[in-house]
Amino acid sequence: MAPSRQARLEQLGEAVRVCTECRLSLSRRVAVPGEGPLDARLLLVGEAPGAEEDALGRPFVGASGRFLRRELEAAGIPLEMAYITNVVKCRPPANRMPRADEIAICTSLYLARQMEIVQPGAVLALGATAAQALLAGRLRLTEEHGTWRRDYELTDQALEVFVTYHPAAALRNERWREELRTDLRRLAATLAEPRLAHRGADQWGVL
Ligand code: URA
Repeated sequence: MAPSRQARLEQLGEAVRVCTECRLSLSRRVAVPGEGPLDARLLLVGEAPGAEEDALGRPFVGASGRFLRRELEAAGIPLEMAYITNVVKCRPPANRMPRADEIAICTSLYLARQMEIVQPGAVLALGATAAQALLAGRLRLTEEHGTWRRDYELTDQALEVFVTYHPAAALRNERWREELRTDLRRLAATLAEPRLAHRGADQWGVL
């Protein structure tokens, strides 16, 4: 019998924890696969783990994560409906941006498969790194934040991707902070639409 989706997700998490496919594995403490329910309606994608995530093995648990979690709840997006992960699963040294080869390896091995297993109705791209990894073409966040995109790059699935600022950027810039809040409220208002329902186990294909 084929392993259950839950088992597949757990196996993927184990593979992330022992991954040595790129140089980030040399400097990380703990890899951070992601967390959330299997039937998550929303898949949140950040950039990369930071220091606290690298110590604890959980995504978005540092300052920007606490801000994000608070703002999601305030917007009416319960965390129980979200699977939270990142473009790359290991902390880049000194929090530098992940490099193109690290992104290509990590997203094809892990993020694409997480999407296939979880089958979210919608994806929230947090910041330019996530947006660029998920979507074809370049995107100007200051102009296109708060919008839905479908020109996806990473998988063949017709995923709905909503783009907004990265919470760390929003913490540094008051205007972006307000815009992120507005974006999350707009996202919350559309999440109940049937087109964004969880896509269901029946669409899950063999990895
Ligand atoms: N920033 C991210 O992009 N992801 C995390 O998990 C934490 C901080």
